[in-house]
Amino acid sequence: ALSGNRNWAPMWREPQPKPHYDVIIVGGGGHGLATAYYLAKEFGITNVAVIEKGYLGGGNVGRNTTIIRSNYMLEGNEPFYEMSMKLWEGLEQDFNYNAMVSQRGIVNLFHSDGQRDAYARRGNAMMMHGVKAELLDREQVRQMMPYLNFDHARFPIMGGLLQRRGGTARHDAVAWGYGRGADERGVDLIQQCEVTGIRRDDLGQVTGVETTKGFIGCNKLALATAGHTSVTGKMAGLDLPIETHVLQAFVSEGIKPVIDNVITYGAGHFYISQSDKGGLVFGADIDYYSSYAQRGNLATVEHTIEEGVSLIPGLSRVRVLRAWGGVMDMSMDGSPIIDRTPIDNLYLNCGWCYGGFKATPASGFCFAHLIAKNEPHPVARLLRLDRFERGFAVDEGGKGPQPN
Ligand code: FAD
Repeated sequence: ALSGNRNWAPMWREPQPKPHYDVIIVGGGGHGLATAYYLAKEFGITNVAVIEKGYLGGGNVGRNTTIIRSNYMLEGNEPFYEMSMKLWEGLEQDFNYNAMVSQRGIVNLFHSDGQRDAYARRGNAMMMHGVKAELLDREQVRQMMPYLNFDHARFPIMGGLLQRRGGTARHDAVAWGYGRGADERGVDLIQQCEVTGIRRDDLGQVTGVETTKGFIGCNKLALATAGHTSVTGKMAGLDLPIETHVLQAFVSEGIKPVIDNVITYGAGHFYISQSDKGGLVFGADIDYYSSYAQRGNLATVEHTIEEGVSLIPGLSRVRVLRAWGGVMDMSMDGSPIIDRTPIDNLYLNCGWCYGGFKATPASGFCFAHLIAKNEPHPVARLLRLDRFERGFAVDEGGKGPQPN
């Protein structure tokens, strides 16, 4: 830095696209980059391109509130998210990059008897999968977080479900670490290149993609375009069970350390943590209309702040520094899809709703496994595209009490 960054080597190459690749991944977000990294590292497939219409990490991977956890309940989700948690725990050593993984604990507050029972059930389900969970009573929560509203709350805090291994990770660094690791192994990361069409032969097989840098051929095509999944799916004639909605987030001015874990409000969708720079990072619910715009409306801003202040009265004295939005690929049951499609050599990774950041490592690993072996990884075996037709929805998280 003392050289004014003049002598810094770029983290990855800026290659021109080759005419043909074994695998093309559309989308240079967390999931696309992680998939490329694991394809190269775990499965030895390096003739790969990641094609990104903007810059690496400019999508949701750089817009999220950085929460990681594995406190899911259902069979289709819990082992998958726990695999992700274990990968997070070794990620920085694995890709040799500081992603500031911080296992500061996550507490999901509950405010009624029914909600306590639901959280106890969730905790029990976690423990049946070998994942530790603790049910806190009101006094235990008060000791950990005395600044919460215990006295005049419309929805009094009755306790919380704690996963100590949950926490946060620096989102951009995750994209950069995976990107650099993939590039080092020979993957071409092609930025500022939008995929505008998917070319198929007479038998319906994908032969490559039309892009703003021309046609690029491939043997296998993998879509990891998050909020634009319905758009890229349509290019291959697929009508997918995905709706895109905006999710907003906020960061306050930097203040002294006050919140040393992640908290979710059970009587609303509000959640909050404090970044290492001191800013309070918080968010709430999606904006309830479909949109590809990466910004939301003021009604949601007001709603978020009201929820925050009702949970933490002192928040009313803090100034918001920035607010932004990202576009979420909402699936109909709240769970993701990592699967092949009716087109033999087209693979799909989507449906992350507002919780896909924490899934990044396992998603990349399982998607790479699927692409390399043509069969699902065991922990992702229920995350199938046709589950809605078959009546095997993995109904969790989409509208439940826990965002992110
Ligand atoms: P993205 O980073 O969006 O990657 C998709 C990429 O595809 C984009 O870069 C886009 O430009 C590219 N693309 C799209 N179309 C094309 C095309 N035609 N050609 C080429 N490239 C294309 N999750 C958590 O687990 N914890 C959280 O705390 C959390 N908080 C969130 C808060 C907010 C405000 C938001 C917006 C999201 C949050 N999420 C959270 C969700 C999480 O960020 C997403 O689920 C996840 O990042 C999606 O996967 P991705 O990283 O691959 O997406």
